[in-house]
Amino acid sequence: RRRLRDVLSRQRQVESQLREIKSDRADAQSELAAAQNRAQSARDRANAANRRLKDVNAILRQVKADLVETEEELGEHREAMAARLLALYHSGQPSYLEVVLNATSFEDFANRTEFSRLIARQDESLLDALINTQKKLARQRQTLEIRQAEAAELKREADRQKRAAEAAEAQASSLVAKYKSDQTAAEAALAELDRAEKSLEALVRAELSRGSYGGSSNGRYSWPCSGRLTSPYGYRMHPVYGIRKFHNGVDIAAPAGTPIRACDDGKVICAGWRGATGKTVIIDHGSGWATSYGHCSSIYVSVGQVVSSGQTIAGVGTTGVSTGNHVHWMVYRNGHHVNPLG
Ligand SMILES: [Zn+2]
Repeated sequence: RRRLRDVLSRQRQVESQLREIKSDRADAQSELAAAQNRAQSARDRANAANRRLKDVNAILRQVKADLVETEEELGEHREAMAARLLALYHSGQPSYLEVVLNATSFEDFANRTEFSRLIARQDESLLDALINTQKKLARQRQTLEIRQAEAAELKREADRQKRAAEAAEAQASSLVAKYKSDQTAAEAALAELDRAEKSLEALVRAELSRGSYGGSSNGRYSWPCSGRLTSPYGYRMHPVYGIRKFHNGVDIAAPAGTPIRACDDGKVICAGWRGATGKTVIIDHGSGWATSYGHCSSIYVSVGQVVSSGQTIAGVGTTGVSTGNHVHWMVYRNGHHVNPLG
């Protein structure tokens, strides 16, 4: 009965833990939504910066291509002009330079140069236009190169902000996942406690209907199994539920099938599946003392059987809520668990 009250009080404890987890989870969920918004706007900014950089790069490529073309035209035009002057020279007509150098007066210069000047003027205006275009394109290139550097810097900064926002988003998301699994574990723990309560009630009823063991015990017991003590009696972090939970026995780790021996004379009052402790044997030793052996792989005794101290009753296993082969060994005093080593 007292053990039953114990189960009920632990149930209330886990229920309050569950409420706390649910509120933490709601907080984490809204933090995640905020982080997702921040990450989305950071991604939008990074995309816009990237598009702007691409646009500037495209214009710059076009201006550079135009500049190369203009420089080629300029070169071709200069060559053509030189070829024309050379042709005039070879045909015996005075070259523009000779005309300028040999003129004796302005009238003479004007007459001599009538023809040459017409050609030269056309050449020069074309040349001027090309040089102007070249200068304009060079200025454009300079401006665009500055804009390109600015856009690249903007993109780097936007990418950095995007990465930071996405890291925060991932962190918030993993926090939500953690609270979700905490909640699942707490709910499983509650369900398990619920089953423990029911099976305990059934056990007490069965025990009462059978009549308990007549022998006497002093509560001093031999170690039930050769193995290593891996978890003592008392509060601990539960290895499966991940919550702080009272450990109501001691865990002795040993390979699967290692014999588990009755730690005193007594009568078997439970030999079968008992929820969280899986396949379990409970022995009534009389005088209000009982011992329990949980997570067994197989059980060699049956309810009502009288066993003697040291008799093999089961094999070590990992049935029920367990992370490896071990015996969950418990000692009951008047139906209330006590420290098996205390
Ligand atoms: Zn245990």
